Amino acid sequence: MKRFSRTFAVLAIVGAASLAFVAAGPFAGAMGKPSYLNGVYEGSAPSHGGELTVTVTVKKSKIASVAVKATDSAGISDAAIAKIPAAIVKAQGVEVDAVAGASETSEAIKAAAAKALAGATLYPVASTMKTDVVVIGGGNAGLAAAVEAANAGAKVILVEKMAFLGGNTIRAGGAYNAVDPERQSRQGIEDSIDKHFQQTYEGGDKKADPALVRTFVEGAPEGLKWLEGMGMKFNDKVFTVLGALWPRSHATVDPVGTGFIKTLKAAADGKGVKVLLETKADQILREDGKVTGIVVVDAAGKRVRINAARGVVLATGGFAANKEMRQAYDSRITPNLGTTNHPGAMGDGIVMAERIGAALVGMEYIQMLPLGDPKTGVLEGWVGFNVEDYIYVNKDGKRFVSEAERRDVMTQALIKQRDQYMFVLCDAHSMPTPQSKNSFNESAEDCVKKGTAFTADTIEELAVKIGVDPAALRATIDEYNRGVEAKSDALGKKLLGNKLDKAPYYASPRVPTVHHTMGGVKIDTACRVIDAKGAAIPGLYAAGEVTGGIHGSNRLGGNALADTIVFGRIAGKNAGAKK
Ligand code: ADP
Repeated sequence: MKRFSRTFAVLAIVGAASLAFVAAGPFAGAMGKPSYLNGVYEGSAPSHGGELTVTVTVKKSKIASVAVKATDSAGISDAAIAKIPAAIVKAQGVEVDAVAGASETSEAIKAAAAKALAGATLYPVASTMKTDVVVIGGGNAGLAAAVEAANAGAKVILVEKMAFLGGNTIRAGGAYNAVDPERQSRQGIEDSIDKHFQQTYEGGDKKADPALVRTFVEGAPEGLKWLEGMGMKFNDKVFTVLGALWPRSHATVDPVGTGFIKTLKAAADGKGVKVLLETKADQILREDGKVTGIVVVDAAGKRVRINAARGVVLATGGFAANKEMRQAYDSRITPNLGTTNHPGAMGDGIVMAERIGAALVGMEYIQMLPLGDPKTGVLEGWVGFNVEDYIYVNKDGKRFVSEAERRDVMTQALIKQRDQYMFVLCDAHSMPTPQSKNSFNESAEDCVKKGTAFTADTIEELAVKIGVDPAALRATIDEYNRGVEAKSDALGKKLLGNKLDKAPYYASPRVPTVHHTMGGVKIDTACRVIDAKGAAIPGLYAAGEVTGGIHGSNRLGGNALADTIVFGRIAGKNAGAKK
């Protein structure tokens, strides 16, 4: 492992885009008098004469010195630069009075010092625990990391802020992409690691880190075997989940993502991993450059410090449920859009990591899906299964995009349709009986009963039920069926299955919904978290949706669960290895 100078490794450079979130740190007043974590920290703020930079040195848990580099005009700012740093040292905090006549520079120094200390300010804790590895987050990535860290011989504590494990994983469709010669050859499907690499990399507009993509596609088949080895069951046949671009998606036998969580939880229990629910990580502790533990708020509301002798694994998932944060990074993602995500997907880990200097990548890449429930934005409730066997029609009864396209292309096309509204349309080839299930374990008849889908024995009757012109819908279906027969689709759909000609027919209304945040903390192929200067932050690992750089600007359907397993395992192994 590369070595860094102490000073260099602890510089906390706070990026401009995220200031709003960094500033939302712990509320000082009620939390008691803070101490500080040893190290050298940098922060900057705009001042009269431009950007002003403050370097704060903490020794023996106290602010030892504050140095200012300013371009403010001499004279006006001199008094502030001479007095405010000393006042901050004396007060052991930034709550000091401004210098009369130099208030702008005074406030800038205070603001820059506050940013420098954002990750280094430690409020009192009620108790302290210790272990080898702490994992933050109990979805796929966190559980996989916990199991592998335990396999490496480490004592592991996993903290999860919700009252249950599973995060977004447990509500995901459940598809796991991996090249699988055994299953694929039985179905006559040609595939290769290179093809998975190429589709993932190009499907994300080559914005991903190729080394991470390579690690991902190579690790996915082994991750699948690892899960199967622990008793997890996948269907015998692979399929193409929405936006996967190729039939290498593995559907789980258990509904949605429950099979993953059940399997990994059993393995974690078997290895003695201590799971603390309703325990929210609030801060990652970095001292003299090295990450040494975290602070959590436990189920009783008490602040507890957990020291981790070997490492901390960040596996807190994404931020698609954080309306303010997602709009700050992509202004098109307006608050009215629903999300498929669980309410805990708030980006906590990204904020915590950034406070201690982690670099972020691809934060502006936020994935929407065209398959949200019009009322709630969730993915459940629509009838259909294989991309090959369903189509999308708008309120005019017309198709408008290839249903085998990338997720971003399909959603952008949907946004342009009347009322941003469409119907997924399939027939009995997808749902042979009313009891046949979608990938959320809901039967076709249940969806119809709930009112999230409509069914009829003819296309014309179905059209009337969904308020679409019957003749227009008939013409669309006829044209699609001619294309299937000729193996040449009018909209260029490459993955063509059966004709839509077998009653009963189903139509499910759907709208755009926010699904996945491709950006996050920057990692290398060993899952070490990287700082703004390109150096690994010692002791900190990350995996899963909290990380960026694997999916570029657009994630393929079915790649997320595989990503969480591949990188969760790597993070856990490396964090758990004896130092
Ligand atoms: P991934 O697919 O990357 O594993 P998930 O969304 O499945 O992501 O899991 C992330 C988990 O992390 C969720 O269960 C979420 O509640 C949890 N989590 C998020 N923030 C915190 C936090 N601050 N402290 C503890 N757990 C957290």
